[in-house]
Amino acid sequence: MLQALRLLLDKGLSPTALNEYLACSLKFYFNRVARFREADEVEEALGADGFGTVVHEALEDMLTPFQKSGQPLTAADIPGLVQLAPMMVQKALRKEEKDRHARADEGLNHVLGQVASQLVRRYLEGLLTEKDGLPLQIQGLEEELHATVFVPLPDGEKLPVRLVGFADRVDQLPDGRLRVVDYKTGLVLAHELKLQKRNETAAEAAERLVLDATYSADKVRQLWLYRFMLAQNGRPAADAAIISLRNLPAGPMPADMGFITADGQDFLPRSEELLGRIIRRILDPQEPIRKTDDLDKCQYCPYKGICAR
Ligand code: SF4
Repeated sequence: MLQALRLLLDKGLSPTALNEYLACSLKFYFNRVARFREADEVEEALGADGFGTVVHEALEDMLTPFQKSGQPLTAADIPGLVQLAPMMVQKALRKEEKDRHARADEGLNHVLGQVASQLVRRYLEGLLTEKDGLPLQIQGLEEELHATVFVPLPDGEKLPVRLVGFADRVDQLPDGRLRVVDYKTGLVLAHELKLQKRNETAAEAAERLVLDATYSADKVRQLWLYRFMLAQNGRPAADAAIISLRNLPAGPMPADMGFITADGQDFLPRSEELLGRIIRRILDPQEPIRKTDDLDKCQYCPYKGICAR
């Protein structure tokens, strides 16, 4: 088991995989070590993840010309993009239906397509009024990020662990600094990205960054790891933010990570230290692979049948 886990860490751990481990180590085991797959069923409706993919792909396709040419997206480009939105959503929808063997353009999928178009359109139009929304200089789209950390183990070994992830968007802000952006099709509120509660020390918040399995901690952890991967590649990001397509008026909502560098600590070494704690826990022979105590996590888990939840 330990060898299988080491192999996994060597191949690359994504923010989603880390979050999965913290949410339920048994689910992590089923999914990533034993690799139990769900039966490949023909789905008729896209479902939440399919819907999210369609929106992400449409936005990516529409913004790619700006990223490739290095031309900033300006207010003059918005009306053309808004017009293009339904077509790009349809294209993404057809691809998704094909990938999932779902029937094209029928019933619920048709409605979901309409909703996706509307979200994309509203997002683009919102850029016109967003503070510092335009011009938007896009440096990366669906960009693959990676980093390697050398984690000290109790026996003195320094284990290389690879981190991998895809950032939805990397922007260059007007002052030259970078911002990494993650789109969420669900509702995210700004306060959810503030992990450090009032009356809580920076050390306590850091503790929760490596332990908590709440949705709020999941999101901050994901943004933290994107920021870490960029920084390790010599691209320190000013902000790591979520754009919630169900909460567009909020604009890009940055995660507050001040607690990581509180007490004058540097972001990179402190992050490596915190990451090391999660990795050592994954490899700790005393740490059982076990079912989560949080029954909410089981609700949509594909393994709830085989683990009797
Ligand atoms: S059903 Fe619950 S306990 Fe079982 S693997 Fe899924 S999340 Fe974990």
